Order: sequence, then C-alpha cells, then structure tokens
Amino acid sequence: MRAGPIGELAPQLHGLGLSATLEINERSNALISEGREVYKLGLGQSPFPVPDCVVAALQRHAGEKDYLPVRGLPALREAVANHQRRVCGVKARAEDVLIGPGSKELLFLLQVVYDAQLVLPNPSWVSYEPQARIAGREVLWVDSQREDKWRIQAEELDRVASAEPGRPRVLLLNYPSNPTGATYSRAQLQAIAEVARAHGMLILSDEIYGELHHEGDHVSIASYYPEGTIISGGLSKWCGAGGWRLGTFVLAPELRWITDAMAAVASETFTSVSAPIQYAAIEALSGNEEITRYLALSRAICRDLGRWVATELRGAGASVDDPDGGFYLFPDFEPLSEALDARGVRSGSELARRCLEETGVAFLPGSCFGRPASERTARLAYVNFDGAQALAEAAQRGDENAGDLAELSACESTREGVRRLTDWLRG
Ligand code: PMP
Repeated sequence: MRAGPIGELAPQLHGLGLSATLEINERSNALISEGREVYKLGLGQSPFPVPDCVVAALQRHAGEKDYLPVRGLPALREAVANHQRRVCGVKARAEDVLIGPGSKELLFLLQVVYDAQLVLPNPSWVSYEPQARIAGREVLWVDSQREDKWRIQAEELDRVASAEPGRPRVLLLNYPSNPTGATYSRAQLQAIAEVARAHGMLILSDEIYGELHHEGDHVSIASYYPEGTIISGGLSKWCGAGGWRLGTFVLAPELRWITDAMAAVASETFTSVSAPIQYAAIEALSGNEEITRYLALSRAICRDLGRWVATELRGAGASVDDPDGGFYLFPDFEPLSEALDARGVRSGSELARRCLEETGVAFLPGSCFGRPASERTARLAYVNFDGAQALAEAAQRGDENAGDLAELSACESTREGVRRLTDWLRG
C-alpha cells in the first residue's frame, strides 16, 4: 500500500505489516473456526494466571482514578529498584526507573530519543527491527551460530562494531532469549560488556524473561557494565500479565539525560500507565511467599516441559538445545534437509505453512526473527497449555523438583502438538 484516498504513507512504513506473531495467531483462529484442531505454538504468551494476591491488589485499587506521574508511581519505582537489587544484585535507584505501558513501548521510546544505530543479534525478537524502522534508525545485525546456542560472541560483536568506530550504537541483548530460550553465562556477559565499553556502545538489556530463568539464576549484564546498561523488564512474562501492559526500564545514573528525554516524550504521548495497574504491580514485586512459590512452580514447569519438547525434537532428527529460561525453543531442521527437500519444503516459512495445514501445529519460521528465508529454523512457544491447571497439579506434588512436570496432565495439549509435529517430520 502506498497511498490512501488522501495523502501518502510515511516512507519508512512501506511494507510494514501486522506483527508476524499476531498474523500466525489469526491464521490459526481461521482454521479453528473451520472446525480444525490447532496446536498454537506460535504465540509467546504466558500460560499462567496472574497470582491471586496481585489480582486482589488490583481489585483494591480499582477506584484509583487520577493521572499518575509520567515516570511512574513513586512507590512502584522504589519497588522496581528493590526488586532489581534482590533478583540480580544490581544496584538501582528509584529515580532511574521508568514505568511504561509495556516494555515494548519503552523500547520504542528509547529508539525515538537516542539517535544511534541499533545492533541486533540474529536471531532476535520480532519487534525490534520494525521499531527501528519506524523510528528511522539503522540496524546492524550480528550473526550467531547454532553451535553457540544462537548466542552472539564477543569477538564477532567487536568485529562488526569496528567497521565504523565511534559511531553511536545501542546493542539490544535479550536473555533468556525469545526466540531461542538460551541465556548467556557470566563469562560471556563480561566479555560482551567489555566490547561494548571499548566501543562506547550502550546496552539495552531486555531481561523480560529473567525471572523465568529455569534455575532461578538470572544474571544481568549491568553487573559488568553498570554505567552503560538499561535493564528492560515488566510483568508480562513471569507474572502472566501481558494484557495489563506494564513495563519497566532501569537506567544507569550516568544515562540521566536519556531518562529525562524519554519522560518528556512519554508526557506528550501516553502520559502515564493505568493507575490501578501500577498499584497492583507493587504487590507483584513484593517478593512475598505466594509469588515466590508461584515463580518456583512456573519455572519448573517451563524447564521440564521445555526439556521434554527438545528431547522429542532431537529424537525426530532436529537440532535443538534444552532451554535455559522462558518458554521458547529454536529448532534447526537442516539435518533433515534431504527428506524435507524431497517433500518440497525448501524454506522455513514453507515448513511452518505445511505443518499448520497438515498437522494443525502452528509455529513461526526463523525468518521472522532475522534468519535467512532458506534456512529451515523455527520458534516453538511451548505454552499452549492450561497454566492454572498445571500450577495446581504441580503444587499438589509438593516439591517442584521431585518428578518430571512435563508429565502433568495439564500439559497434554503441548505434548500432543509436539507428537504431531515429530510424526510429520518422520514422514
Ligand atoms: N521483549 C521480548 C523479548 C518479548 O518477547 C516481549 C513480548 N513478547 C516484549 C519485549 C514486550 O513485552 P511487553 O510489552 O508486554 O512488556
């Protein structure tokens, strides 16, 4: 589309469509309305309900009706700073916290105010690159290899950044990762931090899945590069509250000018996040016993089910690692290239399309995340199960580490989807 009845589309938006994750969801829904069984491994939404104590806090504060400060409710900003200190030992001050309507909006605001090239690992989450395009920023991709669990290497970052030394840049690092489920070791984070510091590169550390590190052992790169890191997070993934729209940024004190510029743009656009949600978020970040238990169970379910799915996929010939956190896997089907060629499946999107049509299993091709179109990789979000039932079943078992939670009867829809996929792969 170039023009409407009156006027022209902004040039940087040509070719921009609906986000790929939403599109696969709509195609799946169309099949469902035709009466087909669909296993939705395409949409990366937390399956777990918002913890009861957080819902109760929202109910208690439903009457809060005033606009709140642009940067966020002071008590919530304090809670975010404390939470950051508690979860990954990063010193954070309430005055360096911003609250936004989802971290997605804050990620975009940063690109609006910070005139820099966006350095993106490949593969990366679907929305970073379009956001850069909308904001008029250039993207510099850093490639990764399957053998490295699709994590960028410090040497490669250094090589890529050396091309135009001194150019303002921001590296977007997301771990545990959407789409791969992998995270970085302390040594890797330290090495990447050193390269970023040497090149004067800002790091935007998207840690929205940090709480869902499967061993509860998330480390932030801010520990190694405190003066140049922005930590992005929020309630959407670990607290099951994607639709509540609350995201957080914690900026280094040295980046105060960016915090101020983002607050200025926020004040002219969304004003502030919904007041009742902000009050409820204080409860979510309190680290109380109910939430600690909820998190322990959520992590254990994601861990065990993720390992089960990875094992099944490897059994069918795909190449994939067990996940470290979150709820995604990024299998590479290239080891099956001969069989796939013979069936006319020559790209990742053809693989996704044929699987959806022939088995009812929906997932996204690797090309949505920056991989080459010809590469037969995919992202599976193994969370199409009833999270409330899974939590209840897991809680009944007592110790979350006692048995294999992949066997929960609540997870049957995921297991069945994966069985259909692996049957199809075996042809
Ligand atoms: N970063 C990553 C890696 C994500 O997967 C998502 C949600 N899919 C977001 C950011 C945005 O989350 P929200 O806007 O709900 O905070």
